[in-house]
Amino acid sequence: MLLHIDEDTIIELAVLVGGENAGKIMKYLLKKPGITDEELSRILQIDIKEIRKILHKLNEQGILHYELAREKDTGHRIFRWYVGQEQVTGFIITNMKKILERLEERLEYEKNHQFYWCETKGCRKLPFEEALDNLFKCPVCGKPLQPVNNEETIKAIELKIDEIKRNLEQISRVKKIEEKPIIKEKSKAAKPKK
Ligand SMILES: [Zn+2]
Repeated sequence: MLLHIDEDTIIELAVLVGGENAGKIMKYLLKKPGITDEELSRILQIDIKEIRKILHKLNEQGILHYELAREKDTGHRIFRWYVGQEQVTGFIITNMKKILERLEERLEYEKNHQFYWCETKGCRKLPFEEALDNLFKCPVCGKPLQPVNNEETIKAIELKIDEIKRNLEQISRVKKIEEKPIIKEKSKAAKPKK
């Protein structure tokens, strides 16, 4: 089984990292691997500086890599850009792990704290210490604070954690099978950040 991260996910990822224009660039790069920054600028009608800024940002995150070539006549340097499926997978794994850590912290927090709430929409729930400081009155609307049953929240977080763990396991398993012998790379590919 090959892990296939669909194009929409990759485009969404680019938007997340570099904004709307990054999404447009990614969409085009998926169709035309090896396109240059100048071609992208011309086709998408986006300023070349902006294009380069976004390409480098995506490269820093390890989603794209480039090959450097020289124009025969002028010696002008050309950057050809590529999306690395392997790199995208790495990026997604790293981010899923971050989300997982945050959720686990949140779960601990929910389990170890009793919360109080005024039951007014838009007002936040306060942990015990803060509720006590406010003499069990909402600091926003002034209504009395009631203890909150957060079992539902805990259950929802636990479900989400399970789901991410399962996905991570699946991706890691597929990644191991897919890892190929090292092919000499011409390009400088940024390593995904840890
Ligand atoms: Zn309130």
